[in-house]
Amino acid sequence: GEDPRIRDIMSRIRVVPDFPKPGIMFQDITTVLLDPKAFKDAINLFVERYKGRNISVVAGIEARGFIFGPPIALAIGAKFVPLRKPGKLPGEVISEDYELEYGKDCLQMHVGAVESKERALVVDDLIATGGTLCAAMNLLERAGAEVVECACLIELPDLKGRERLKGKPLYVLLEAH
Ligand code: AMP
Repeated sequence: GEDPRIRDIMSRIRVVPDFPKPGIMFQDITTVLLDPKAFKDAINLFVERYKGRNISVVAGIEARGFIFGPPIALAIGAKFVPLRKPGKLPGEVISEDYELEYGKDCLQMHVGAVESKERALVVDDLIATGGTLCAAMNLLERAGAEVVECACLIELPDLKGRERLKGKPLYVLLEAH
């Protein structure tokens, strides 16, 4: 990217071949978190984009959306809502099943966490096939919220996940191949 902060963030991402299984190039963001400037720059790039846009809810996807979502939410004055794997949320939930490359997964959201007509931002670390973000958007829309945008640090554009987002805008800091 043009912004020198993005080049610095990119240089902090550790790429681990064949994790968690052969053929996957795992983009490890924990090495970004080790550098306070890079971590803060990543948060600030999102905050600069979303402040003043009347976003009332930041929805973070388990687990790495829980790292980046809350500081963004606090900085723009929005609530934070965790979207979790099944069986983790203690209250009444709504669920969205989605397909993985091998098998199925599910995201859940607490009923009552989001109200009708709220403006939502969905946050995760990375978009691959887009299935996870699509399930997250479906949860928010079922609750009556408007998804303004999805935001990730990293996009794997070769997997064309962007095309699964039902025309909703996706903002990423950088692309990886
Ligand atoms: P997808 O639903 O296919 O877009 O996958 C996105 C989810 O899987 C995100 O929560 C990512 O954290 C995780 N993920 C998928 N592929 C990778 C990868 N190559 N490196 C790191 N995380 C990944």
